[in-house]
Amino acid sequence: INSKVKDNDTKIQITFNDVAGLDEIIDELKIIIDFMNNTEKYKRMGAKIPKGILFYGPPGTGKTLLASALAGETNSTFITASGSEFVEKYVGVGASRIRGLFTRAKKSAPSIIFIDEIDAVGSKRNNDNNSEKDQTLNQLLIEMDGFNSNDGIIVIGATNRLDMLDEALLRPGRFDRSIHIGTPNLKARFEILKVHTRNKPLDNSVSLSEFAKKTHGMTGAHLSSICNEAAILAVIRHKQKIGREEFDEAIERVFAGLKKKNPEIL
Ligand code: ATP
Repeated sequence: INSKVKDNDTKIQITFNDVAGLDEIIDELKIIIDFMNNTEKYKRMGAKIPKGILFYGPPGTGKTLLASALAGETNSTFITASGSEFVEKYVGVGASRIRGLFTRAKKSAPSIIFIDEIDAVGSKRNNDNNSEKDQTLNQLLIEMDGFNSNDGIIVIGATNRLDMLDEALLRPGRFDRSIHIGTPNLKARFEILKVHTRNKPLDNSVSLSEFAKKTHGMTGAHLSSICNEAAILAVIRHKQKIGREEFDEAIERVFAGLKKKNPEIL
């Protein structure tokens, strides 16, 4: 899935089938999908759709995945950028990159611009319009105001820290919707494990619902990595199918990594 996400400016093949455990959030996004697919209908009615949406929550919970699935479902061009790409030493460089991003999006509309780590450009300003960072953020605000929602462009920003963002970004007509994406609960973990074992041969000893119970606190990224590790172990062991031992070991490894990074979490 990852390799499909990373291609810049391409049509995406990821769909909501690849996203698990986020059904309520997908429901909230239905209006956006209808709008992207039927822009004319909304135009005729004089209805405006949000231009910007923020996804916030911990890393690895599927923010990028969901944005790319949204592009896949609406057959939109998916244009990705990371906020840190716009943070530059030389004054004007970040702002000009922001302009370039929106020019590309307009050319290949319908498009979804996804800005990961938007806090890198969007954190609160120092009220010093000469600083490079403030100029970059100002340019982003100008671009958000400049396009018409009927141009077929939606901007999605992702952050782990909603509270750090400059309020100007959150005003109506900019990023006026925020959607929290948290760590998955038991049922969501089970669904995510199902997606990531879809194309893997599993033997009868495997119980995904049991693994879902054992992986409290883990994100989609962790669960995806467990499934992959288990598959690799099965290959190394010359097995025809992946068994419970491989999963148990993979879970142990990912837990060990997690404990090292974040001893207080688990
Ligand atoms: P970051 O804040 O670090 O950018 P993110 O929230 O954007 O993280 P993703 O990059 O979308 O996280 O997730 C990483 C990978 O984890 C995905 O490519 C996918 O394989 C898996 N994953 C995460 N969440 C889910 C989910 N809800 N359903 C299925 N797979 C998921």
